[in-house]
Amino acid sequence: MVVTDIVKYDPPYKACPACNSSQIGLLLKDFRENHIFSCKQCSVQFMNPIFSDEYLQHYYAEYYEGEIPEANYMKAHQRDNEVKFQFIERYTQPPGKALDFGCGNGNFAEYAKMRGWDVIGYDVDGDAMNKVSERLGIEVESGPFESIDWKESKFDLIHAYHVIEHLKYPMRDLKKLHNLLADNGFLYIAVPNINALSVRVKFRLEKLGLRRKNIGKYYDSEHHIFYYSPKSLTAMLDKCGFEVVFSMNATKVTAEHSKIAQFFARDLPNALYSNGAFFIIATKKKSA
Ligand SMILES: [Zn+2]
Repeated sequence: MVVTDIVKYDPPYKACPACNSSQIGLLLKDFRENHIFSCKQCSVQFMNPIFSDEYLQHYYAEYYEGEIPEANYMKAHQRDNEVKFQFIERYTQPPGKALDFGCGNGNFAEYAKMRGWDVIGYDVDGDAMNKVSERLGIEVESGPFESIDWKESKFDLIHAYHVIEHLKYPMRDLKKLHNLLADNGFLYIAVPNINALSVRVKFRLEKLGLRRKNIGKYYDSEHHIFYYSPKSLTAMLDKCGFEVVFSMNATKVTAEHSKIAQFFARDLPNALYSNGAFFIIATKKKSA
Protein backbone atom coordinates (compact mmCIF):
# COMPACT_ATOMS: atom_id res chain seq x y z
CA MET A 1 0.00 0.00 0.00
CA VAL A 2 1.30 3.44 -0.92
CA VAL A 3 0.67 6.10 1.62
CA THR A 4 0.97 9.65 0.29
CA ASP A 5 2.21 11.79 3.06
CA ILE A 6 1.94 15.35 1.87
CA VAL A 7 3.38 18.08 4.02
CA LYS A 8 0.73 20.78 3.70
CA TYR A 9 2.72 23.88 4.70
CA ASP A 10 6.18 25.39 4.32
CA PRO A 11 8.02 26.76 7.35
CA PRO A 12 6.50 30.18 8.16
CA TYR A 13 7.83 33.41 6.68
CA LYS A 14 9.65 35.61 9.18
CA ALA A 15 9.58 38.59 6.82
CA CYS A 16 7.14 39.85 4.20
CA PRO A 17 7.46 37.76 1.02
CA ALA A 18 6.70 40.88 -1.04
CA CYS A 19 8.82 43.65 0.53
CA ASN A 20 11.03 41.80 3.01
CA SER A 21 9.90 43.91 5.94
CA SER A 22 10.00 42.16 9.30
CA GLN A 23 6.88 44.07 10.35
CA ILE A 24 4.44 41.27 9.69
CA GLY A 25 1.78 39.99 12.03
CA LEU A 26 -1.18 37.68 12.37
CA LEU A 27 -4.52 39.18 11.31
CA LEU A 28 -6.73 36.18 11.81
CA LYS A 29 -6.99 32.42 11.75
CA ASP A 30 -9.77 31.42 9.39
CA PHE A 31 -12.25 28.54 9.68
CA ARG A 32 -9.99 26.42 7.46
CA GLU A 33 -7.27 26.83 10.10
CA ASN A 34 -5.13 28.89 7.73
CA HIS A 35 -3.33 31.85 9.28
CA ILE A 36 -3.62 35.17 7.50
CA PHE A 37 -0.81 37.67 8.00
CA SER A 38 -0.47 41.25 6.91
CA CYS A 39 2.56 43.44 6.28
CA LYS A 40 2.66 46.85 7.94
CA GLN A 41 5.09 48.13 5.33
CA CYS A 42 3.45 47.27 1.98
CA SER A 43 0.02 46.20 3.35
CA VAL A 44 -0.11 42.94 1.38
CA GLN A 45 -1.85 40.05 3.13
CA PHE A 46 -0.76 36.43 2.78
CA MET A 47 -1.18 32.96 4.20
CA ASN A 48 1.52 32.15 6.73
CA PRO A 49 2.63 29.41 6.85
CA ILE A 50 1.94 29.08 3.16
CA PHE A 51 0.93 25.89 1.30
CA SER A 52 3.83 23.67 0.26
CA ASP A 53 4.68 23.23 -3.44
CA GLU A 54 3.75 19.58 -3.14
CA TYR A 55 0.33 20.35 -1.70
CA LEU A 56 -0.40 22.91 -4.42
CA GLN A 57 0.70 20.53 -7.15
CA HIS A 58 -1.80 17.93 -5.95
CA TYR A 59 -4.51 20.52 -5.56
CA TYR A 60 -4.16 21.97 -9.07
CA ALA A 61 -3.84 18.58 -10.77
CA GLU A 62 -7.60 18.31 -10.29
CA TYR A 63 -8.59 21.97 -10.51
CA TYR A 64 -9.65 22.15 -14.15
CA GLU A 65 -9.52 19.10 -16.38
CA GLY A 66 -10.24 20.65 -19.73
CA GLU A 67 -13.99 20.19 -19.88
CA ILE A 68 -15.97 22.44 -22.21
CA PRO A 69 -17.78 25.17 -20.23
CA GLU A 70 -21.57 25.44 -20.42
CA ALA A 71 -23.14 27.87 -22.87
CA ASN A 72 -24.54 30.16 -20.14
CA TYR A 73 -21.17 30.44 -18.49
CA MET A 74 -19.49 31.34 -21.77
CA LYS A 75 -22.16 33.92 -22.52
CA ALA A 76 -21.57 35.65 -19.17
CA HIS A 77 -17.83 35.66 -19.78
CA GLN A 78 -18.30 36.97 -23.29
CA ARG A 79 -19.97 40.02 -21.78
CA ASP A 80 -17.17 40.44 -19.20
CA ASN A 81 -14.59 40.16 -21.94
CA GLU A 82 -16.33 42.82 -24.03
CA VAL A 83 -16.20 45.19 -21.05
CA LYS A 84 -12.53 44.38 -20.40
CA PHE A 85 -11.59 45.28 -23.93
CA GLN A 86 -13.37 48.60 -23.69
CA PHE A 87 -10.67 49.50 -21.15
CA ILE A 88 -7.73 47.56 -22.57
CA GLU A 89 -8.09 48.90 -26.09
CA ARG A 90 -7.87 52.47 -24.85
CA TYR A 91 -4.18 51.62 -24.45
CA THR A 92 -3.37 48.94 -27.00
CA GLN A 93 -5.20 47.66 -30.06
CA PRO A 94 -4.91 44.60 -32.27
CA PRO A 95 -3.12 43.39 -34.26
CA GLY A 96 -0.63 42.37 -31.60
CA LYS A 97 0.57 39.46 -29.52
CA ALA A 98 -1.35 38.59 -26.36
CA LEU A 99 -0.61 36.18 -23.52
CA ASP A 100 -3.48 34.87 -21.44
CA PHE A 101 -1.63 34.02 -18.23
CA GLY A 102 -3.74 31.48 -16.31
CA CYS A 103 -6.10 30.96 -19.21
CA GLY A 104 -8.21 28.16 -17.65
CA ASN A 105 -10.94 27.16 -20.08
CA GLY A 106 -9.71 29.73 -22.59
CA ASN A 107 -12.77 31.97 -22.74
CA PHE A 108 -10.68 35.16 -22.81
CA ALA A 109 -8.17 33.75 -25.30
CA GLU A 110 -10.98 32.72 -27.62
CA TYR A 111 -12.56 36.15 -27.44
CA ALA A 112 -9.23 37.95 -27.90
CA LYS A 113 -8.51 35.86 -30.97
CA MET A 114 -11.89 36.81 -32.41
CA ARG A 115 -10.99 40.48 -31.91
CA GLY A 116 -7.83 40.08 -33.95
CA TRP A 117 -5.24 39.38 -31.26
CA ASP A 118 -2.58 36.76 -31.90
CA VAL A 119 -3.03 34.98 -28.59
CA ILE A 120 -1.13 32.31 -26.65
CA GLY A 121 -2.58 30.75 -23.50
CA TYR A 122 -0.77 29.49 -20.43
CA ASP A 123 -1.96 27.43 -17.49
CA VAL A 124 -0.49 24.82 -15.20
CA ASP A 125 -2.09 21.51 -16.15
CA GLY A 126 -0.75 19.97 -19.36
CA ASP A 127 -3.58 17.52 -20.13
CA ALA A 128 -6.26 20.17 -19.65
CA MET A 129 -4.33 22.69 -21.75
CA ASN A 130 -3.90 20.24 -24.63
CA LYS A 131 -7.69 19.98 -24.78
CA VAL A 132 -8.13 23.76 -24.66
CA SER A 133 -5.49 24.23 -27.35
CA GLU A 134 -7.16 21.71 -29.62
CA ARG A 135 -10.64 23.12 -29.07
CA LEU A 136 -9.66 26.74 -29.71
CA GLY A 137 -6.96 26.19 -32.29
CA ILE A 138 -4.42 28.30 -30.40
CA GLU A 139 -1.05 27.61 -28.81
CA VAL A 140 -1.33 26.93 -25.07
CA GLU A 141 1.74 26.45 -22.87
CA SER A 142 1.64 24.50 -19.61
CA GLY A 143 3.81 23.32 -16.74
CA PRO A 144 5.71 25.34 -14.13
CA PHE A 145 5.70 28.94 -15.38
CA GLU A 146 9.28 29.66 -14.34
CA SER A 147 10.63 26.78 -16.44
CA ILE A 148 8.97 27.63 -19.77
CA ASP A 149 11.28 28.80 -22.52
CA TRP A 150 9.44 31.63 -24.25
CA LYS A 151 12.37 32.21 -26.60
CA GLU A 152 12.25 35.77 -27.90
CA SER A 153 8.51 36.21 -27.37
CA LYS A 154 7.37 39.68 -26.37
CA PHE A 155 3.71 40.41 -25.78
CA ASP A 156 1.77 43.60 -26.44
CA LEU A 157 -0.88 42.50 -23.99
CA ILE A 158 -0.70 40.19 -20.98
CA HIS A 159 -3.97 39.26 -19.29
CA ALA A 160 -4.08 37.74 -15.79
CA TYR A 161 -7.67 37.43 -14.67
CA HIS A 162 -8.08 36.23 -11.08
CA VAL A 163 -4.77 34.41 -11.22
CA ILE A 164 -2.15 36.12 -9.09
CA GLU A 165 -4.04 35.61 -5.82
CA HIS A 166 -3.33 31.91 -6.44
CA LEU A 167 0.40 32.37 -6.97
CA LYS A 168 2.79 31.31 -4.24
CA TYR A 169 5.61 33.41 -5.72
CA PRO A 170 3.83 36.45 -7.19
CA MET A 171 6.98 38.62 -7.22
CA ARG A 172 8.96 36.06 -9.17
CA ASP A 173 6.14 35.51 -11.67
CA LEU A 174 5.38 39.22 -12.10
CA LYS A 175 9.05 39.87 -12.83
CA LYS A 176 8.93 37.15 -15.46
CA LEU A 177 5.79 38.74 -16.95
CA HIS A 178 7.68 42.04 -16.99
CA ASN A 179 10.37 40.32 -19.09
CA LEU A 180 7.77 38.95 -21.45
CA LEU A 181 5.99 42.26 -21.94
CA ALA A 182 6.96 44.39 -24.93
CA ASP A 183 8.35 47.84 -24.01
CA ASN A 184 5.09 49.51 -24.98
CA GLY A 185 2.91 46.59 -23.89
CA PHE A 186 0.18 46.53 -21.24
CA LEU A 187 -0.59 44.18 -18.40
CA TYR A 188 -4.20 43.66 -17.31
CA ILE A 189 -4.64 42.16 -13.83
CA ALA A 190 -7.89 41.48 -11.96
CA VAL A 191 -8.01 40.17 -8.39
CA PRO A 192 -10.43 40.02 -5.45
CA ASN A 193 -10.25 43.14 -3.26
CA ILE A 194 -9.42 42.30 0.37
CA ASN A 195 -10.40 45.86 1.27
CA ALA A 196 -13.87 45.52 -0.24
CA LEU A 197 -16.63 47.01 1.88
CA SER A 198 -18.28 43.63 2.50
CA VAL A 199 -14.95 42.16 3.61
CA ARG A 200 -14.22 45.02 5.99
CA VAL A 201 -17.69 44.71 7.57
CA LYS A 202 -17.40 40.94 8.04
CA PHE A 203 -13.87 41.25 9.46
CA ARG A 204 -15.06 43.82 12.04
CA LEU A 205 -18.06 41.72 13.03
CA GLU A 206 -15.77 38.72 13.53
CA LYS A 207 -13.37 40.73 15.68
CA LEU A 208 -16.32 41.89 17.77
CA GLY A 209 -17.50 38.30 18.15
CA LEU A 210 -20.75 39.06 16.35
CA ARG A 211 -19.98 36.70 13.50
CA ARG A 212 -18.69 33.27 14.49
CA LYS A 213 -19.41 30.95 11.58
CA ASN A 214 -16.99 30.44 8.69
CA ILE A 215 -14.51 32.99 10.04
CA GLY A 216 -12.54 34.59 7.21
CA LYS A 217 -14.39 32.70 4.48
CA TYR A 218 -13.88 35.72 2.22
CA TYR A 219 -10.16 34.93 2.08
CA ASP A 220 -10.96 31.84 0.01
CA SER A 221 -7.86 30.31 1.53
CA GLU A 222 -8.79 26.98 0.01
CA HIS A 223 -6.74 28.22 -2.95
CA HIS A 224 -6.04 31.94 -2.57
CA ILE A 225 -2.74 32.58 -0.82
CA PHE A 226 -2.10 36.29 -1.33
CA TYR A 227 -4.80 38.90 -0.68
CA TYR A 228 -4.57 42.26 -2.42
CA SER A 229 -5.98 45.73 -2.23
CA PRO A 230 -5.45 48.36 -4.94
CA LYS A 231 -2.73 49.84 -2.71
CA SER A 232 -0.77 46.65 -2.03
CA LEU A 233 -0.99 45.38 -5.62
CA THR A 234 0.20 48.74 -6.93
CA ALA A 235 3.17 48.56 -4.52
CA MET A 236 4.02 45.03 -5.63
CA LEU A 237 3.79 45.94 -9.32
CA ASP A 238 6.06 48.90 -8.68
CA LYS A 239 8.69 46.58 -7.18
CA CYS A 240 8.45 44.38 -10.26
CA GLY A 241 9.08 47.27 -12.65
CA PHE A 242 5.52 48.19 -13.57
CA GLU A 243 3.71 51.49 -13.49
CA VAL A 244 -0.06 51.49 -13.01
CA VAL A 245 -1.88 53.56 -15.64
CA PHE A 246 -5.46 52.68 -14.72
CA SER A 247 -7.20 51.07 -11.77
CA MET A 248 -10.87 50.49 -11.12
CA ASN A 249 -13.44 48.35 -9.35
CA ALA A 250 -14.55 45.38 -11.41
CA THR A 251 -17.60 46.55 -13.31
CA LYS A 252 -20.15 45.32 -15.80
CA VAL A 253 -21.39 48.86 -16.39
CA THR A 254 -20.38 50.57 -19.62
CA ALA A 255 -21.04 53.80 -21.48
CA GLU A 256 -24.16 52.19 -22.95
CA HIS A 257 -25.85 52.17 -19.53
CA SER A 258 -27.89 55.08 -18.19
CA LYS A 259 -26.08 57.89 -16.39
CA ILE A 260 -27.76 56.84 -13.14
CA ALA A 261 -26.58 53.25 -13.51
CA GLN A 262 -23.10 54.49 -14.34
CA PHE A 263 -23.04 56.61 -11.20
CA PHE A 264 -24.47 54.15 -8.66
CA ALA A 265 -23.12 50.90 -10.06
CA ARG A 266 -19.73 52.07 -11.27
CA ASP A 267 -18.53 55.54 -10.25
CA LEU A 268 -19.67 55.58 -6.61
CA PRO A 269 -18.35 52.11 -5.73
CA ASN A 270 -15.18 53.01 -7.60
CA ALA A 271 -14.67 56.13 -5.49
CA LEU A 272 -14.95 53.97 -2.36
CA TYR A 273 -13.21 50.92 -3.84
CA SER A 274 -15.99 48.95 -2.25
CA ASN A 275 -16.64 46.16 -4.78
CA GLY A 276 -15.45 42.60 -4.34
CA ALA A 277 -12.81 42.82 -7.06
CA PHE A 278 -10.76 45.35 -8.96
CA PHE A 279 -8.54 45.51 -11.99
CA ILE A 280 -5.36 47.29 -12.89
CA ILE A 281 -3.81 48.15 -16.23
CA ALA A 282 -0.05 48.63 -16.01
CA THR A 283 2.87 49.20 -18.30
CA LYS A 284 6.63 49.02 -17.88
CA LYS A 285 8.21 51.87 -15.97
CA LYS A 286 9.94 54.12 -18.42
CA SER A 287 12.78 55.16 -16.13
CA ALA A 288 14.90 52.03 -15.92
ZN1 LIG B 1 5.45 43.86 2.76
